Amino acid sequence: MRAVVVRSHGGPEVLQQEDVDEPTPGAGELLVEVAASGVNYIDTYQRTGAYPLPLPVTLGLEGAGRVLAVGEGVTEFAVGDRVAWGNTLGSYAERAVVPVRDAVAVPDGVDIEVAAGALLQGMTAHYLTHSTYPVREGDTVLVHAAAGGMGLALTQMVKALGGRVIGTVSTEEKERLAREAGADEVIRYTELGGGEELAAEVRRLTDGEGVPVVYDGVGATTFDASLASLRRRGVLALFGAASGPVPPVDPQRLNRAGSVFLTRPTLADHVATREELTWRAGDVFRAIAEGSLTIHIGHRYPLGEARTAHEDLQGRRTTGKLLLLPR
Ligand code: NDP
Repeated sequence: MRAVVVRSHGGPEVLQQEDVDEPTPGAGELLVEVAASGVNYIDTYQRTGAYPLPLPVTLGLEGAGRVLAVGEGVTEFAVGDRVAWGNTLGSYAERAVVPVRDAVAVPDGVDIEVAAGALLQGMTAHYLTHSTYPVREGDTVLVHAAAGGMGLALTQMVKALGGRVIGTVSTEEKERLAREAGADEVIRYTELGGGEELAAEVRRLTDGEGVPVVYDGVGATTFDASLASLRRRGVLALFGAASGPVPPVDPQRLNRAGSVFLTRPTLADHVATREELTWRAGDVFRAIAEGSLTIHIGHRYPLGEARTAHEDLQGRRTTGKLLLLPR
């Protein structure tokens, strides 16, 4: 079968499609025919070695498809079932082995490509808005990169919870998408002079108060503005580093910013038990079925063009969810 294998950490060019042996499912595992795999920013950190992995490795944490075979002791799923996952390596391939504990049944009526791109960003947006800072009706929140995969998911979930969204984006097209997803205010942060101007704009839009939470997956270039945009005792949920990692922070800055909270959460800690995983995945699929969450598929690439997908993602040229299609 074909798979995108990384043999050494590096730029997008290290993503090479190869013919590899078909995997076999072990005890408690499923062999899945991948219909589509989701591309996520974390894949680029794993590719470069910012998050090192034992090599060689097939990247891709997210996907969906049909069960082709089940390993010993599997009773939860059967051959032919449609399953999705958002936290299992090896998805950039025609077939993937998925542990039962990470697999979720795709409900009837949810398109398989939508399911393939729903769980990693969807469950992350879920924990950020339900657990890290539970959004309350009337809250105004700041979402950076609001037209990205995470940004569109966050924006829709905050709106469904009754919040008001201030989104940041870099282009007119991204502004349009963020507004379509429900963003009430959109700031073109790349047109501002710097972080102070961005924070001033957020304060202007919140009658000087600032926001109770900033969802910041951009990192290096937005961190200072995020901190300065918080209201007293607000929460800075720094969940990514699309523009690069944030340098070390002096805790006194949290004092000066108004006794604010800084957290750097990750999905794995929010789906560590089967109960939590099925709660979040169930909510995500229910929201899709009911229409309050739309997975905007920005681009579909053939599996062999994983390199281009990474170049586009890191080049800031994409919106919403990117998928790799094996066929
Ligand atoms: P996106 O689709 O959001 O793509 C990244 C976006 O970030 C770009 O489109 C761009 O939007 C913005 N951006 C700002 N500065 C830069 C820059 N210098 N280079 C590249 N992009 C930049 O990606 P994802 O939705 O996959 O991920 C978003 C973030 O969320 C990532 O940091 C990722 O690691 C994180 N994440 C964290 C998880 C967790 O549990 N901690 C789980 C899932 C994702 P614009 O052009 O509008 O500025």
